[in-house]
Amino acid sequence: MNKQSIPLLSPAIGTHRELVSFHFGPSDSGQKIYIQSSLHADETPAMLTTVLLKRRLLELEKQGALNAEIVLVPVANPVGLGQYVLGQFLGRFDLGSGKNFNRHFMQFSKLVERAKDALGSDAAENRRIVRELIAAELAEQKPLTEFESLQLALLKLSFDADVVIDLHCSLEAAMHLYTSEAAWPEFEPLSRYLGAQASLLATNSGGESFDETHSLLWWQLQQAMPADRPVPDGAIAVTVECRGQRDVSYEVAQEDADALVDYLVWRKAIKLDVKPLPELLSPATPLAGSEQFYAPVSGILVHRAKIGETIRVGQALFDIVDPLTDETTTLVSNTEGVFYMRRAIRFVTAGAPLGRVTGKKAFRTGVLLGA
Ligand SMILES: [Zn+2]
Repeated sequence: MNKQSIPLLSPAIGTHRELVSFHFGPSDSGQKIYIQSSLHADETPAMLTTVLLKRRLLELEKQGALNAEIVLVPVANPVGLGQYVLGQFLGRFDLGSGKNFNRHFMQFSKLVERAKDALGSDAAENRRIVRELIAAELAEQKPLTEFESLQLALLKLSFDADVVIDLHCSLEAAMHLYTSEAAWPEFEPLSRYLGAQASLLATNSGGESFDETHSLLWWQLQQAMPADRPVPDGAIAVTVECRGQRDVSYEVAQEDADALVDYLVWRKAIKLDVKPLPELLSPATPLAGSEQFYAPVSGILVHRAKIGETIRVGQALFDIVDPLTDETTTLVSNTEGVFYMRRAIRFVTAGAPLGRVTGKKAFRTGVLLGA
């Protein structure tokens, strides 16, 4: 293992942050796995999982069991961790610009046209050509802010990975993950090992997120190129939501770290015996089929359903109680699916997002991710 550090652009005189990464395994194996946690800064369930995963990888490396280069970034957002305001971490958005740390990533898909002209008949060579183009594009970037320099540093560590795993957590949530339809067969085993209660699929959610910049370019090239100029899977990417923000325990983090190791074994990135695949707890559903609930009025939020519960159409999910008029507004589900996440607040303003239930039928369009 070797530890590396990338200095971030200093936002103000006398302040300085760095992005630290841990690199395991042989760098010439032909397979690279990139795993980061806590891109929204205070996502501690994911961070603890990465700590335990790092310990395991150190042991496995000593045993000579690593078959791939594995890059681990346990603290993907040191900028957000510095945003500790009046006793609260505000790690989702950059306080300087208001930007979500997992949006606005430079999208590799801007290279599609240039890549198309450069590709030939050899799939492996085409992968190399496209990665070279991305590397050159990243080398040309000149970040102006600490936010931009953080995003660029993350992409420089990850752009040439075959598999990108982005570990987050939600507010109050069941284990769930996001990936593309095309990558689902490759990540279905991960969903099984993690015991994910929802797997949400979208090719392009429109959010310019970290995972999609990796996967979208390759998918778009695969759609555009004729069969005699083949494009391999250059990178597949998944975002894993390690339950809710307060679900921090050694037991659960160990289970999740073990599940990641099991998955890497399945991928042949680690030389151990493959563990039998557990059952898939819920079939994958389109992200565009998830129902998102918003408060029509302000008031006290009382939950009527449990996280991870399977919800029927018409089932009550939320009550909003007005303490002045005594009126209660009840929100019911219009889809049948899993209640996979909800906000952690218990008093809502009008228009506040409340939670989400999976649905089999896509009905939403436009940008599919929340702010
Ligand atoms: Zn997050």
